[in-house]
Amino acid sequence: MLAGPAALALLTIAAQASAVAFHPERAWLELATALLLVLQARWLARRVATYRDRGPQRAIVMTGQLLALGLAADAVVHLASWDVPHSAGFVTGSILASVLAFHAVLQWDQLGSGVPDVGDWTNALGMVAVLVGAGLLLTDGALLPTAGWSEAQEIVQLVQVANGLVLLAACLSVGLLAGMGRQSRLWAVLATSVGFVVAQGLALSQGFHVSQLVSSLGQVIVVSVVMVALHHPLPSRRVEGERPPLTTSWSLALTAGACLVLVASAVSDADDRALAGIVGGLAALLGVARTAGIVREIEGANQSRREARTDELTGLGNRRGLARALGEAMTNLAAGEPVALLAVDLRGFRDVNDRFGPAAGDDVLRVMAGRMREQLSERMVSRISGDQFIVVLVEPDASDPATTADGLVLALERPVQVGATTVRLRASIGVAQAAPGSGLGDADELLRRAHVAMHVAKRAEKHVAYYDPNEEAAAHAARERVEELAALLGPAPDPAAGHLVVHYQPQLDLRTGRVVGAEALVRWAHPTHGLLYPDAFVDLVERHGLMRPLTDTVLRLAATQAAAWERAGTPLRVSVNLSSSLFLDGRLERMVQDALLATGASAHLIALEITESVLMENAEAVPRVLDALADRAVSLSIDDFGTGYSSLAYLSDLPVDELKIDRSFVQRMLQDVRTHAVVAGTIDLAHRLGLRVVAEGVEDEDTLEALRALDCDVTQGYLHSRPVEASALTGWLDARTSVLG
Ligand code: C2E
Ligand code: MG
Ligand code: MG
Repeated sequence: MLAGPAALALLTIAAQASAVAFHPERAWLELATALLLVLQARWLARRVATYRDRGPQRAIVMTGQLLALGLAADAVVHLASWDVPHSAGFVTGSILASVLAFHAVLQWDQLGSGVPDVGDWTNALGMVAVLVGAGLLLTDGALLPTAGWSEAQEIVQLVQVANGLVLLAACLSVGLLAGMGRQSRLWAVLATSVGFVVAQGLALSQGFHVSQLVSSLGQVIVVSVVMVALHHPLPSRRVEGERPPLTTSWSLALTAGACLVLVASAVSDADDRALAGIVGGLAALLGVARTAGIVREIEGANQSRREARTDELTGLGNRRGLARALGEAMTNLAAGEPVALLAVDLRGFRDVNDRFGPAAGDDVLRVMAGRMREQLSERMVSRISGDQFIVVLVEPDASDPATTADGLVLALERPVQVGATTVRLRASIGVAQAAPGSGLGDADELLRRAHVAMHVAKRAEKHVAYYDPNEEAAAHAARERVEELAALLGPAPDPAAGHLVVHYQPQLDLRTGRVVGAEALVRWAHPTHGLLYPDAFVDLVERHGLMRPLTDTVLRLAATQAAAWERAGTPLRVSVNLSSSLFLDGRLERMVQDALLATGASAHLIALEITESVLMENAEAVPRVLDALADRAVSLSIDDFGTGYSSLAYLSDLPVDELKIDRSFVQRMLQDVRTHAVVAGTIDLAHRLGLRVVAEGVEDEDTLEALRALDCDVTQGYLHSRPVEASALTGWLDARTSVLG
């Protein structure tokens, strides 16, 4: 495929060789060479027209054309016998052509490495100046005899040699960079160029005219070979990334060369020392400019690297910044210094975003970042998501993370102004520490531990929590339990998750000793852990939105049992515990009604217990729901009375029938006169308001007697019975009836 272009190239070279060899016909032969060069250029231009990347080829096409123009101009001058120094056309054309050739190399460089570098022009010009300066000093000695040459001729020749050398070096480095080291066309071009430069050096002693003839032939050969080589597309890598330190080494060489030329011209006694000094000085200036450029580039690169590690919003580190800080901390750890991580979470930040909008949220984050920066060096803090920050502590702070954490809490919880409002966020900080030799050398693990501790702090609404493997195990167990609960209570219950059981604890009328009611208390028959008590799961159920199905199940089981006891002739009022979330859900009344309907239990045999805290938390919703429930004839009871801060006056407005004094009061009433007074007062006032009083947690006869003395209505507690299965309670009831009866 390259046979045609190669043949044309050979023809061109032959024409120029004949021009150099045969004097009288030189002008015509030069014209022929020029024509052939133009033909080669056009062929190349046509061939590459469809290539995607053809910058280098286009520059070389113009190089060939310029060279042709120079040769043609010389020929015309000669044929017309004009009084212009022969070779003037070629010299001008060849110098311009070498500029274009260098441009081609730069285009090729961009293609090969994907990184444009304007600084290379400075390098190239500087190197040419260095070489010319050096040449000026050398050609005066015996090494390169140019006696009889004019100064202008000498400079012209040296510039051409220097151009050749610079192009050669540039081609070599770019060719290797572009990964063309195995391509014969690269080596063909390089070999031809080396031959050209050597021939030019040798021709120096033959006088200016001969040198120019050699130079013209050499350039025609090199350009022809390059044009043939470029008929194939150049490999294009377009890789992003750091540029190899090639231009840096070039400018070092440039500066060093310029200095050498300057020193040599100062100590030399050559005729051209002044000129060499000027050229050397020029090169030195270019070298300095290039070095300054490189310094700026490096600064720019550092800046963008810094920016890549910085969180745009707060100016703190981002995840990349954190990775770096962690890397450094881990190196410290390996060197024997402790490391601590603080994972900081701002509670209440989401509210700010929701209430005031994201712009206000951003402002608050900036304020928080500023406060952290006041406490800690900027490099130590990173923001890794919305309102989460990580602080990396190294010595001396790492040994005492508590001080830093406390300081942060104080700073972060100071009020923040958002528009006209003042808000206060809460900080939860998780601390993870790594001591040297603890075997913990993994940054990710340390980070994970800090997060675990932070979640513990958040859940417990604490300021600071330290990573604790036991707590982590507990948290893990809780997660597992939540999944099991979802299987137990979810829309499609999984029998493998066990089932709910209700135990009943009897309530006795203090005056008659008769069993008047029973509290339904839920248990979970867990497939592996056996019977679980409410403290092991009720909180999780509430927190994960599963309270409705749980209460529904308990309610139906309890109502079924109440109906059964009624049918058996021992009617008992069965109490079911209701939790806070049920009052917000709006379907409670319906749920109770459905349970009554489905089980056939009489409404007056069902009591619903609401703790005092539920009342206080939902002061708006609860009374409405209670009214609706009271209309259904179920009775209502206030559970755990005394643990909240409700007043009996408030309770009197609600349709409740019963008050259950919390067992903490009941159990202390004999030891503590004040508690005794509270219990007595509560019973008295409740009676005046028409409420029945139940004392919970009665464990001994003395307490029972004390309650009797205070005229309490009903008692419930281990003294009578622990919560037991329905069948056990039925047996217990039968036994008592026979005893009482
Ligand atoms: P609670 O409603 O105050 O229930 C009374 C708790 O006190 C029961 O604990 C009972 O076993 C215990 N108790 C009774 N007598 C004595 C005594 O003499 N001494 C002592 N030390 N304790 C006594 P349990 O069954 O572990 O239930 C704990 C809590 O779990 C209940 O407190 C209630 O708040 C909640 N709970 C139980 N079942 C349900 C339910 O179905 N739904 C909801 N939402 N909560 C429930
Ligand atoms: Mg209760
Ligand atoms: Mg209670």
